[in-house]
This record gives sequence, C-alpha cells and structure tokens, in this order.
Amino acid sequence: MSGGTIVMKFGGTSVADATRLKGAAKRIVEKFEAGHRVVAVLSARGKETDRLISDAYEISDAPEPREMDMLLSTGERVSCALCAMAISDLGHEAISLTGSQAGIVTDTSHTKARILDVRADRITSALDEGKIVLVAGFQGVSTSKDVTTLGRGGSDTTAVALAAAVGAEECEIYTDVPGVFSADPRIVPEARKLDIVSFEEMLEMSSSGAGVLQLRSVEYARNHGVRIHCRSSFDHSPGTVVVSEQETMENPLVTAVTHSTGEARVTLTGVPDTPGVAGRIATALAEANVNVDMIIQNDPVSADAPAEMSFTVPRDDLRTAKGALAPVVAELGIGGIATDESMGKVSIVGAGMKSHPGVAAKVFTTLGEHQINIQMISTSPIKISCVIESDRVPDAVRALHSAFELQGEGTIRPEQPFGEFAS
Ligand code: ADP
Ligand code: ASP
Ligand code: MG
Repeated sequence: MSGGTIVMKFGGTSVADATRLKGAAKRIVEKFEAGHRVVAVLSARGKETDRLISDAYEISDAPEPREMDMLLSTGERVSCALCAMAISDLGHEAISLTGSQAGIVTDTSHTKARILDVRADRITSALDEGKIVLVAGFQGVSTSKDVTTLGRGGSDTTAVALAAAVGAEECEIYTDVPGVFSADPRIVPEARKLDIVSFEEMLEMSSSGAGVLQLRSVEYARNHGVRIHCRSSFDHSPGTVVVSEQETMENPLVTAVTHSTGEARVTLTGVPDTPGVAGRIATALAEANVNVDMIIQNDPVSADAPAEMSFTVPRDDLRTAKGALAPVVAELGIGGIATDESMGKVSIVGAGMKSHPGVAAKVFTTLGEHQINIQMISTSPIKISCVIESDRVPDAVRALHSAFELQGEGTIRPEQPFGEFAS
C-alpha cells in the first residue's frame, strides 16, 4: 500500500514530556508504516518558549530581536532531535532539520518573520531515501542569513508551508484538544467540536483569538490550497477539517465565540483635526510591525478643536507601539498618550450572519444583561467583536455561547489527558 505525503505537526503539549514525545514518535511511525511519506513538524516542549522569553527578559529589558530569535529557535530543535532518537529506537530512519536546513526562507522581521519561500529539495531527497523528516517548527532563515522565528504559534505555519511545498495531501495539526470548537473548551466545557469549518470563518476565528490555528497558517493554507486537519494527539478520533466555502454544506448564523485576554488600548488625545494625521499614526505603527486592531476616532464638536483617537494592539506589542508613536506624537503636536493594559475582546463569528440583521443587537443585549461594559466595537460581514475588560472575558464568552445556543453534548471527557485543562 502506498499513500501520498502527509505533514504532521505536534504542538507543545503533545511533546511536553518523554512519554508524550514517544507517543508522537509512535504516531509518526504508524503513518509511515501505513505507506505514507512523512514530514513531521514539532513545537518546543510544553512551556519552553515562554521560559526562554522570560530568560531573555531576566537578562535585558529590551532583548535584541536577532538574538531573541537565536534563543527561541532552540526549543523546537530540541524536540526534533529527541523525536529522531525515539523514531530510531522504533526501527526507522529519521533526520531532524532546523528551519534553515529545511529551506524555509523568511523576511527579516525578527520574532514575527513571514515565510517568503520554501526550498524543499533537502526534504524531498530525504523522503526519497525512505527517511522520516522532522522539521523544527516556528523558524526559518532570513534573506540576510539570520535565524528568524515566525511569531507565537508559528509551527502551524511551518507545517502548512511545508505541506504546500512538498504537495502533501493533508496537513495534520495534532494538538491538545480534539479539534476546533464553538468556543475555547477550556472556558466553555460544553463547546461543540466543529467537523468542518470554512477558511473564511477560520480566518476570522484565528484573527480574533482562537489560537488553536495560527492566523498565518490559515491564510497560507487558503492561498495554497492546503487541506488542514486539526485533531487530538491523544486519540485517533477525527478532528476538524478546514475547507473552502463551497464545501461547507450550511452556514449557521453563528459558528463560534472567540476571545482574547491580551489586548491593550492606546488613546491619543489632542490630535490635530487635519487630513493626513491618521495616516501618519497608522504608518508609524505599521513600520514597527504592530498590528492595530480596532480604531475609534472621535471628531471634535467644534471645527478647530483637537480630536481623540483610540485603538487596540496586542498587549505584547504595547511597548513597541509606544516607541513607534513617540516621534509622531512630538512631530504632530499630539496632546497626550494614555494606555490601558487590561483589555480583552470577545467576538462571534458566523458566515450566516451576512444575511441576518439583528445579530449585533443580540450580542450587545446579552453582554448588557450580564453587566459587561462594551468599550469598542468592530464588525466585518461575518464577525462582531467587542472590546471589554479582560477579567470579564470568560463570562462574556459563556454568555454569548449560551445565548446563541452553540453547545454540543459536552466534548471534554475527564479520562482524556487534557493536561492543564482548567475550568
Ligand atoms: P499547540 O501547542 O498544540 O499548538 P495551542 O495552545 O497553540 O496548542 O492551541 C490549542 C489550544 O487552543 C487549546 O488548548 C485551546 O485552549 C485553545 N483554543 C482557543 N480557542 C479554541 C477553539 N475555538 N477551539 C479549540 N481550541 C481553542
Ligand atoms: N513554540 C512556539 C510558541 O510557543 C511556536 C509554536 O508552538 O507553534 O509560540
Ligand atoms: Mg499552537
């Protein structure tokens, strides 16, 4: 029997200790023995990336981004080398490769690099030699020949990019939950597993906090026609397949509630009310690679009074955002800059929303009934997002999940090794 090429990606929890790492190796070998050519992408073990980041901040308040990438890229290398040893003990030949050795070429944006090209010839020749290929996720080599990393959760994108480059029939993302759910099952235990989800919806889910698939991996898969199957590394049950819009049979009004607790709000006061100012501010942030999410500008009541502008950025980017804004604030004579780091966001996503008015009203009413104050709102044709206090996010997620009746039978079985699953 001969199958095609499969890319299998194992996340941090799935390789956290020796037992789990050997479990992943066994799973890889099973796939190989079933006749597939196998490329496996591994994440750093457990919380290793968090640990490396805090190591860096113990040494320096502003670690050099290039050196940060040298440091962070080590986590996934460890996983791959250990997994190659485990596969060898199972009687098969495996070769571990760094992102650079695997031919992943990125731009030079350290800690958030984008993949520009995948030169997969070393992988394909190893596959031709009958080897299992293990690739360190989350990293590449820049056009200036420096090691780069791809942003948090970036191993998903490594896996999808390799799947596209080697023409894999599927990119399997093995993780610590059985698939993509109608809400984060850590917050809503009765959340329903989605058998399929469209790229359109998954993009909105990932961009609004569903970290189960990194946003760029979903973008890459859609652009290159890669089939993603997100599933549990702890059992063999089928997970969630991300499919094109045409393949989804129905469009429920609301598919999922997503959330983030890591937002920060920046408010600029005394902003000159003249053309071009918003452009200058947005350009400064874009050049610093800060992703601005929601933006509100309050026009002044009288014609020549200054305006106020607020926007949200990921909390991790707040320091960079402030640094990028400082010269613009001085140059434009902006009155002041205030920040609030305690922001979160709750969103609902559903392709069926396009043709149904009234969904926003239900979201706002539900949050109001739970005494949750909405600070900012943004919408797209298939998403409604509200910025709220981060400590109210779990309540908001549960309230919306129940208001839109998204619950399934209860998908978390206590015997499953969900590790850190907390209520
Ligand atoms: P990995 O280390 O395998 O990449 P991640 O922690 O990046 O795993 O992603 C899996 C986690 O994503 C789950 O443990 C879950 O808490 C979280 N998550 C958030 N939203 C969702 C969702 N809608 N469906 C499934 N998981 C979600
Ligand atoms: N280890 C990296 C992170 O924790 C990348 C990944 O796991 O996808 O973000
Ligand atoms: Mg992840």
